[in-house]
Amino acid sequence: STPVTYAAGLAATAKRGVIIKGGAKLEAMGSVDRVVFDKTGTLTKGKFSVTHLEVISSSKTRQEMLELLSLMQERASHPIASSLVQAAKAEGVNVPRQMSVTDHQILKGEGIMAKINGKIQVYVGNQRLFNRLGMLELLSPENKNLVEEWGDSGGTLGFIGSREDGIIGMFCVKDSVREEAREAIDELKEAGIEAWICTGDSDATAQAVAKEIGIPEHCVNSQLLPEDKLQFVKGLKRPRPKKFALCREKRYVLFCGDGVNDAPALAAAQIGVSMGEGAAMALEMSDVTLMDSRLTKLTYAIRMGQRVLRTVK
Ligand code: ADP
Ligand code: MG
Repeated sequence: STPVTYAAGLAATAKRGVIIKGGAKLEAMGSVDRVVFDKTGTLTKGKFSVTHLEVISSSKTRQEMLELLSLMQERASHPIASSLVQAAKAEGVNVPRQMSVTDHQILKGEGIMAKINGKIQVYVGNQRLFNRLGMLELLSPENKNLVEEWGDSGGTLGFIGSREDGIIGMFCVKDSVREEAREAIDELKEAGIEAWICTGDSDATAQAVAKEIGIPEHCVNSQLLPEDKLQFVKGLKRPRPKKFALCREKRYVLFCGDGVNDAPALAAAQIGVSMGEGAAMALEMSDVTLMDSRLTKLTYAIRMGQRVLRTVK
């Protein structure tokens, strides 16, 4: 391909909705040889639908569980949350206004907690959370089987529970992979660029997505906290071996993500790329934004970076 100047490269990428903070960053994109993707909202649409939702405690009715669940999720920002509020609505259960919610907190990498009516401590989140609370092990063998079964379907498992009732209900939500994800990964491979996944989600879910889009099993890192994503990116930015000290060829790590939990990794990578639909914090911490969140625009911008690099050299 023919070389292009900074200005022409920036104009061309901007025209396609890729906003790059300056010519130096565009040029740097030409030296990327490893790309780390967040999963939820980045490789996937981040729009969940509920595939399973069941009460498992005899102390609560389905209606009561749905009320608690929508109360808890109404205030949560994770894309899982709105799918559950909607599922409750679809069964005719609206958020109960007579109940109060206080001390609503995000439990990083685990879910959320809050106090209902000033006294009942309720939790909603994943296996890691309910394992830590010591409630998961109390599930009946039949329900443990359900957990396995739902987990194998590639969905994300969740639970709702309280201090007094233990686990009240469980659910499974499913996201879908972005249509162009596979094509983008194929283009990266063709360009000799390695692709990785870093996610807060479970390993089963992450591996299912990886398989669907052609990322090898060993390039998947699951159940990560924001700090873990940051450490992973830092680890990839390994120093060049001594024998290459005179070699000027750069090998950059690019991180692509959409969430608040990706902000540290976006800042740490040599190139941070955010999705236009992503959290404001992610957009702020990135060097590049894909305005329409289409992943093939990322590979387009890398190719443009390679052309600019050729001009500069
Ligand atoms: P990610 O965006 O990669 O899923 P997060 O750190 O935001 O990472 O969340 C980690 C995990 O915590 C989620 O995959 C989910 O299992 C659980 N979680 C977070 N928020 C909620 C919520 N509101 N309801 C249920 N589970 C949640
Ligand atoms: Mg995400």
